[in-house]
Amino acid sequence: MRVVRRLTELGEVLDAERRAGRTISLVPTMGALHEGHLSLVRLARQSSDVVVVSIFVNPLQFGSGEDFQRYPRDTEGDLELLRGERAEIAFLPSTADTYPPGATVTVSAGPLGDVLEGAARPGHFDGVLTVLTKLFHLVEPDIAIFGQKDAQQVALVHRLVTDLNFRICVVVAPTVREADGLAMSSRNVLLSADGRKHALALSHALLLGREELERGGDVSAAVSIMREHLDAADGAEPSYADAVDPLTFGPPQPGGDIVLVVAARFGNVRLIDNEPMTNGGRRKE
Ligand code: AMP
Repeated sequence: MRVVRRLTELGEVLDAERRAGRTISLVPTMGALHEGHLSLVRLARQSSDVVVVSIFVNPLQFGSGEDFQRYPRDTEGDLELLRGERAEIAFLPSTADTYPPGATVTVSAGPLGDVLEGAARPGHFDGVLTVLTKLFHLVEPDIAIFGQKDAQQVALVHRLVTDLNFRICVVVAPTVREADGLAMSSRNVLLSADGRKHALALSHALLLGREELERGGDVSAAVSIMREHLDAADGAEPSYADAVDPLTFGPPQPGGDIVLVVAARFGNVRLIDNEPMTNGGRRKE
């Protein structure tokens, strides 16, 4: 595996791959890799000749007072895991190269970036889409792979690719969970022992919402049940619980697909989770 830090080197290596007719996939990450990330890398491995995994803790997507400084970082461990997955390129750009001095131009996520996760973290999705635009230009992948774990990010990536005319196929991989149901996240290592137990409230709330829909209950009943569960949960400071259209993040369309979304803070660790459902109230993978 080649570890690339300079943008010029990345361009040279990938130009050669493209000239040789090889297809390229990109898995964007912020590092502190876990099985969820690795599932994306495996999907990339199956879908393309050259797998590029980027590791960059993007300062632009963290608000002031958020956890940029204490976000987990483990470059050596990450590279070891990526070698194990036979990725061709680990791309670790510097912040100075990614955001040239004096940079002022950014990508705006639009209204979809202002609701739910975007309302709780103003500017977050502008930062996400700005760095993804840069990565898409630098890597020019045929395929980009994202986790369903970040459902609103997935919706926004679809908008980004459509609205800015990227010729990239977006692939979405299911959420990988711990045995007890907690969605894997780099932030899980920041949880206290109690926080780790309390954090199960998220997947439990989703399970209750899902069961309500599966029983034929309506969306508002499912949302109420999820909210009640989070409000009553030990050690949880709920941020939101809702049921939305997976593409617009507005109200679900009659008969349309639904994604149940939840977010809460456990101590000083904010976690999110979601459950995609089909229009018939069935679980969707
Ligand atoms: P992050 O490093 O948190 O920015 O995540 C990088 C990519 O991995 C994103 O596309 C995430 O949605 C995806 N990802 C994170 N956690 C999981 C998980 N538990 N299962 C599947 N994909 C995940």
